[in-house]
Formats: sequence, C-alpha cells, structure tokens
Amino acid sequence: MTRELVGHFIDGKEVFEGEQRGPVYNPALGRTIREVLFADAALVDRAVAGAKAAQVAWGEESLARRQRVMFDYRSLLLAHREEIVERISEEHGKVLGDAAGEFARGVEVVEFVTGLPQLLKGQYNDSVSRGVDAMSVRYPLGVAAGITPFNFPAMVPMWMFPVALAVGNGFVLKPSEKDPSTAIRLAELFVEAGGPEGLFNVVNGDQHAVGRLLEHPDVKAVSFVGSTPIARSIYERAAKAGKRVQALGGAKNHMVVLPDADVDTVAESAVSAAYGSAGERCMAISVMVLVGEGGQDYLSAIEARMSQLKVGSYLDPKSEMGPLITGAHRERVAGLVSEAEAKGAQVVVDGRKHPLVTESGFFFGPTLIDDVRVDMDAYREEIFGPVLLVLRAPTLDAAIALVNGNPYANGAAIFTGNGGAARTFIRHIDSGMVGVNVPIPVPVAYHSFGGAKHSLFGDTHVHGEEGIRFYTRAKAVTMRWPGEANPTTGMHFVTNA
Ligand code: NAD
Repeated sequence: MTRELVGHFIDGKEVFEGEQRGPVYNPALGRTIREVLFADAALVDRAVAGAKAAQVAWGEESLARRQRVMFDYRSLLLAHREEIVERISEEHGKVLGDAAGEFARGVEVVEFVTGLPQLLKGQYNDSVSRGVDAMSVRYPLGVAAGITPFNFPAMVPMWMFPVALAVGNGFVLKPSEKDPSTAIRLAELFVEAGGPEGLFNVVNGDQHAVGRLLEHPDVKAVSFVGSTPIARSIYERAAKAGKRVQALGGAKNHMVVLPDADVDTVAESAVSAAYGSAGERCMAISVMVLVGEGGQDYLSAIEARMSQLKVGSYLDPKSEMGPLITGAHRERVAGLVSEAEAKGAQVVVDGRKHPLVTESGFFFGPTLIDDVRVDMDAYREEIFGPVLLVLRAPTLDAAIALVNGNPYANGAAIFTGNGGAARTFIRHIDSGMVGVNVPIPVPVAYHSFGGAKHSLFGDTHVHGEEGIRFYTRAKAVTMRWPGEANPTTGMHFVTNA
C-alpha cells in the first residue's frame, strides 16, 4: 500500500527527498497513517543555505515590514485553525480541545512579536562624557535552529520560530518525527503571509538531521525542547561547536497541598493537570504532596472526579483524554506503575485495567498511586503518562525539601489559602515556574518559559524578553562627532573626570 508522505519544507515548497523514512501513527487508531521522510546531511545543508540566503534581505527589512508579515501570519493561522487543530489531534492523539489550547498558546507568541518595534527598542544615553553618547542595540544572529518534541507539535515550535524570524533571523526547524505534519503547514502559511521563501525551512528526520544542524557552521543558535538526556547532549554538543544554546528538558512537576486548601479546587486542578493530554505535557502535574496528617478528603474527591473522566478518540466530542503517543510508550508507563506496586505503593485507580487498553489505540487509563516513596523509579523518572503519584510530608518545609530533592525543576504549584505559606514556597522552591492555586503555571507569551536543574540546560528561557535576547546579539556603541563644538581629546579613556 502506498502511504501519504510527509516531506520537508525548503525554499518555499514541500520537498520529498530522503532515503530513510519513519511511520506516523494515528494513536487513537493505533496504526500508521502516513510516513515521514528523513533528511540527510546534504538536505539539512540545503535548508540552512536557503535560510542564510533569505536572511540577508530580511535582516535589512524595516521593522514595520517584518511586523506586518507577523500580523498577516496571525490572521492566516486563525483562518486555518480548525485544519491545524485536527492535524495535531490526528497525529498526537490529544483531544480537540487540548489541540486548540496548544494552538492558541502558540498564536499568542506570534501576537507577542507583532509588538516588534517596541521589543527591539535599544537604550541610549546622551553625554556619557563631554560630547560622547552611548547606545545599546540588538541585531539578528543569522540562522537559528529549533529541535522540538512530539507532545506539542504546534506550540513548542511556535515558542521559537516567530521570535527568531521577527527579530530578523532565518530559521530551520526539525520537528518530532512522530507528528511532523503540523510544522510543514505552519511554514507554508508563513510564506503565504508574505514571509520570504527559504527564510523558514523545515527538515524532518531523526538524530542524524539534528547532528548536522549542531555541527553546521552557519547555524548560530540552537533551541531544543525534549527529554533530559537528549537536552543535556544537545547543550554540550552545540556549545562545543560555539553556538548559543537553550535546551529544555524533561520534568516531574509537584503540586504541594496544604491542609487549608479548598478540596474542590485541589481535586479539579489535580485531575485536569495530571490527566489532561494523557499526562504528556511538560508542565503536567505528576506528583501530589499532601502536607500534614490526613488528606483522605482530597484523594476521595480526586477519585470521584476520575471516575467521570471520559477517555477516548479525539473524533468523539465527549472525550476528555486521548491515547499515548505509541504502543511502546504505553508499555513503559505500565511498567513504571507495576514497579511502584511491586515496591509497596498502592495503586488506587489502575489505568492498566481500563477497558480501552485492549482496543487497537494506544490508550491507557488515568492512574492514581498512593504511598509512593522517593526511591521508586516511578518517582525518580519522568513517566509522561496519565499517572499521579501521591507522597506525604509533615510540614511545608519538608515538602519544599522533598520537591527540591528531585533533579527536575520545571514547574511546581502550591495549593493553600495562606499567603505567607505561598510566599515561602515561591522564595524557596527550585522550579523555574511556580503556581499558587494554579496547577500548570505556563507563563503567557510576554513572560518567559523555562525550568532549572535537569529541566533546562543553558540559562535563557524561551519567548518573552528572554526569547528576544536569545535570538539577537548586542552591540554597545560609544559615539563622538569631533568638531568645533566637540574638540577631540587625548589618548586616555573617556571618563567624567
Ligand atoms: P525526545 O528527547 O525523544 O525528542 C525531542 C527531539 O529530539 C525530537 O525532535 C527528536 O527527533 C530529537 N532526538 C531524539 N533523539 C535524539 C538524539 N539522540 N540526538 C539528537 N536528537 C534527538 O523527546 P520527545 O519524546 O519527543 O518529547 C517528550 C519529552 O520532551 C519529555 O521529556 C518532556 O518533558 C519534554 N518536554 C519538555 C518541555 C519543556 O518545556 N521543558 C516541553 C515539552 C516537552
């Protein structure tokens, strides 16, 4: 059977080249629906060369022109919203509401960069010395590359390329080979919106395409989002090749619940944050820490809500949670649940026994595990599935120490009615993003997104002001215009003395 192919998007058109190819599943059906071609080094080189050539003129364009392209791009994205959202769900498996949510968060970044002239305003000081002025300005880097994970095929690329392009760069994106089609559509629409052909290229593929991007001399910056071992390796390799790099890794996000927290708010938040998108969100809550004695009322309320959760295909409008990305990933999730159980944890709600697990899709039921210990693999490793672990801590300080003992530090949330306790949590928790009665504290586009420790290698977060800084290089200019009014002085440093 000949399957539909996903190619690459280079110099303004889809290109079907590459010896190797990989399967693209519809996870709700559990079968291959198309295949994706993998780029080799020569094709990656073509994509980089195209972006480099197009960047020269784009970098010289006025801010107003680049801003207008971004405005038109936003309109086109919204006009094609339904089609893109369906494509996300088809290849990823998340329900349409989740896909629409990620798309909306991606579009927010495009909206953020329509404020380009304001974002790129430099700084100026008149008369830092007699007759001497100083200014700081930022210029594009040239070509930047992005390497992105399967779990947000629209939003994570959109954390990167709209910012990189708006400030004047070319961009080459290597999306996840598991759900590659969305990226192609995003690039096509950029050209339709008036973006120059070749400026934004997409190469599909695996680690070989990534390897070429990391060593290519014309790639000046690398943004990566994915699992921790790969993030660490990308960081090391790109830095060694002299590039600036931001590499966002995996997560284990904790939700700390103080005894004064509202039961309904906690239950609602825990269920949506742990099981939404089948737990395949980098900001999903995967651990709940109950502080103090008791806590059974929280668990009972969570269980009651879980029993109403509708698992199913995105094609059923009633579905609230879809399947996992692959059958292999489902086996890994099931294995971690079994490991915790074998080591003495209590599986309160068991997703391994969900009726859909026997169907053809890659479904796994929502799972709640109590009495988890920090030495269990289920706690130490990122599960990336619909599994919520429950641990206990006697005090807030003990809970903070427990969370900070985990090597991941993406997001963390506290649920409480006590402002002082929340302030202590904000100040002392290691995580890069903190929620107070908000389970998934993903920053809006004009703030910056990023974690710490094993959740971020590098120091710059994505989008917001940090994104603008990442994709530009600074110049500090000191100016004097000698003349009658400004006699030139000697060879000493300019000082105010
Ligand atoms: P992954 O690390 O397997 O893959 C990410 C990207 O790296 C893909 O494009 C893939 O093709 C490429 N890649 C894979 N192996 C490689 C190798 N050996 N060398 C070079 N490139 C390689 O991640 P995934 O499974 O696609 O995504 C899930 C992971 O991403 C989870 O760990 C999740 O927490 C993380 N994630 C983190 C954030 C964040 O903001 N920190 C956001 C989304 C996802």
